[in-house]
Amino acid sequence: MSSSGSVVVVNCGSSSVKLALVDPVTGQRALSCLGERIGSPDAVVHMTTAEGTRTITPAASTHRGALAHVLQRLLDLDLPPLLGVGHRVVQGGAVFHGSVRIDDRVLGQIHDLSALAPLHNPANASGIEAARAVLPDLEHVAVFDTAFHQTMPETNYRYAVPARWYEEFGVRRYGMHGTSHRFVSQRAAEILRAADGRDPRELKLVVAHLGNGCSATAVLGGRSVDTTMGLTPLEGLVMGTRSGDLDPAVVELVADRTGEPVTEIVRQLNSSSGLLALSGLSNDVRTLSAKAAEGHAGARLALDVFVHRAAKHVAALTVSLGGLDALVLTGGIGENAKNVRSMLLARLRHLGLVEDPAANDEHGRSSTPAGRITVPGSGPLAMVVPTDEELLIARDTVALVERT
Ligand code: ADP
Repeated sequence: MSSSGSVVVVNCGSSSVKLALVDPVTGQRALSCLGERIGSPDAVVHMTTAEGTRTITPAASTHRGALAHVLQRLLDLDLPPLLGVGHRVVQGGAVFHGSVRIDDRVLGQIHDLSALAPLHNPANASGIEAARAVLPDLEHVAVFDTAFHQTMPETNYRYAVPARWYEEFGVRRYGMHGTSHRFVSQRAAEILRAADGRDPRELKLVVAHLGNGCSATAVLGGRSVDTTMGLTPLEGLVMGTRSGDLDPAVVELVADRTGEPVTEIVRQLNSSSGLLALSGLSNDVRTLSAKAAEGHAGARLALDVFVHRAAKHVAALTVSLGGLDALVLTGGIGENAKNVRSMLLARLRHLGLVEDPAANDEHGRSSTPAGRITVPGSGPLAMVVPTDEELLIARDTVALVERT
């Protein structure tokens, strides 16, 4: 990577916009923006630079208008040269196996994939349209959450459902958080090669990304072979507000009892379930940990169910690997919640993972060497590796721009 400058990294969600200027070599941010309540009249954007944070009110309340406004403001600042624009796109379907430069055809394909991700792809596409309009002379690159998982074998991505659902509607497992799983598994492989001389091509990793959304992936020799999220980010682990795995018959039962349409029930499975529902308190592990320590039954239950489900999935993913060399924890919870890490390792002791309490406690303060949180031994290890999805998006963008 030779160029010096920054990549504009855009992550346009359904009601939020994140934007950062990322140095693809050092990972440093010259600027980061968080836009909230985008699409509503009280939209605000917090812009952070070395000088501090200021809040601006975008002139337009539409998604596209708000992003265009922020990008325009950005051009007025004294910034490092812009190398390109990298866009996070949630659903790349079976079409995109890696990051691609965006042209009208790619944009059309991202729109077409909205049927599989109606909450995400339309917002991602609006972000691309707005950014291309304001920055027409830069290359724009799409980095897909699903692309890393396109190496999953058919056995691991097929649902046992009627063939027509798969063939005509694309009903299969795609997996998400691929950018984080890719970044963290590469970093873990580098660390393990440097520390123990392990060959990255042989490594059997389970990466658990535990943040607001949570998913775990089996990574064999650097390739995703199985993952817990499916058609949408709803499947798999218990999350902040998402249920994770569920008997699909629940939807029919609730529809019968409440008269609510399926879309409303699925909305509640995405937004009013998970840790929030189990605790009756919060979706934030910091709050739940504090309340659980004070004896709050709902907070304890929520953390127990969260950890139990995560441990079950980690163990299940070892089937797809035929063993385990390392469990790699990342995301806001994985990187910071040492109580959750400790609970998780306690449930995985039979796999040979034995917590080193001092190393677990220390991580996040002075950061133990190689992020290791288990006692050294001949079995598998657990380690904490901070994720940086924006940096990987910036690096993919530069790699494609330099290939021009
Ligand atoms: P996202 O998935 O939106 O990127 P993050 O990866 O930042 O979110 O994870 C956010 C979650 O991480 C919070 O909801 C909170 O539960 C948890 N978290 C963040 N910081 C801490 C902390 N210091 N201790 C415990 N949990 C934390």
